[in-house]
Amino acid sequence: NSVFAHVVRAPEDPILGVTVAYNKDQSPLKLNLGVGAYRTEEGKPLVLNVVRKAEQLLVNDMSRVKEYLPIVGLADFNKLSARLILGADSPAIQENRITTVQCLSGTGSLRVGGEFLAKHYHERTIYIPQPTWGNHTKVFTLAGLIVKSYRYYDPATRGLNFQGLLEDLSSAPAGAIVLLHACAHNPTGVDPTLEQWEQIRQLVRSRELLPFFDSAYQGFASGSLDGDAQSVRRFAADGGECLIAQSYAKNMGLYGERVGALSIVCKNADVASKVESQLKLVIRPMYSNPPIHGASIVATILKDRDLFNEWTIELKEMADRIISMRHQLFESLRAKGTPGDWSHIIKQIGMFTFTGLNSEQVAFMTKEYHIYMTSDGRISMAGLSSRTVPHLTEAIHAAVT
Ligand code: PLP
Repeated sequence: NSVFAHVVRAPEDPILGVTVAYNKDQSPLKLNLGVGAYRTEEGKPLVLNVVRKAEQLLVNDMSRVKEYLPIVGLADFNKLSARLILGADSPAIQENRITTVQCLSGTGSLRVGGEFLAKHYHERTIYIPQPTWGNHTKVFTLAGLIVKSYRYYDPATRGLNFQGLLEDLSSAPAGAIVLLHACAHNPTGVDPTLEQWEQIRQLVRSRELLPFFDSAYQGFASGSLDGDAQSVRRFAADGGECLIAQSYAKNMGLYGERVGALSIVCKNADVASKVESQLKLVIRPMYSNPPIHGASIVATILKDRDLFNEWTIELKEMADRIISMRHQLFESLRAKGTPGDWSHIIKQIGMFTFTGLNSEQVAFMTKEYHIYMTSDGRISMAGLSSRTVPHLTEAIHAAVT
């Protein structure tokens, strides 16, 4: 008898499980709107041309070897990643009071940041938005933090519950960590306006909360790398401290390469260098050092002006296709006369629309229309195309009437 005989089967991951169910479906009509990955108009995964070019350059460079990277990863990659999120003119970079370490995509960056805070920060409570990306709770709990939530989404308006957010952050204990989505909030697609960000910043600073930004969609929301970084830059510019987890999964389409970075903006250079020394102690026993290939692709693109420009164009094309899908779906529902106000589809930004469909309606659409999505009614706009909009419209119409 197995020594593991007592092990009970774990449930599928609620997000990745959608794809498992989709793969089992034999219907030619089936449509997967669960995955958080970009698809072309033909429904295919996309490797950016600029990524192919960078990989070719790397392959042709015979001086490159496969030695271990340092614990903190590729130096160029770290420097350029900080510059990308904070802007080249950032005072934090000029004053050298930031440490950046290469981590395993966004998830790994959040985890390393979480473990560092659990070990070295005086307050263990982290506030995450309600709702948020499903993995946040697990990542931070396992890192050793205590997870609480703040109000974020208002189902009545399908927009931001700004009053609730301010109230909850006002009553958080001084020093508490606050997880903020830098842009394109997942799963709701609802972001604060710049004025609201400014109020959040003032509240966070006056209550001495510690902001931890999750930046998984820079450039993917609006099509502008600088535009999507405004929230983070405001916080980094006020001289206060913060953490930033960056992912290149979506904006460079490097999902499986697991490329990301954790930056900690500190009060001064001395603190930053001590913090970095402790980050190494978090990373070394976890995975020793990060993988080399994806970070080399990113560094190759970020340090070459032509490749960088090419990237911004391809990035904008992805963002624009998603925005166009929003308009097509909205117009299609309107043309069909589907009951309800669907304007949130064009107001929300980023990869996802929080449709407002409930779990019964989602189950109905899966059963009758072979459309797959998470049970909270979140659909990936990137999984949609002009060809599939009518089918989704039919399904939504049937689900709400
Ligand atoms: N944070 C948010 C809000 C996300 O939506 C995602 C991915 O879906 C991630 C972090 C982490 O992604 P990855 O680890 O692939 O970079």
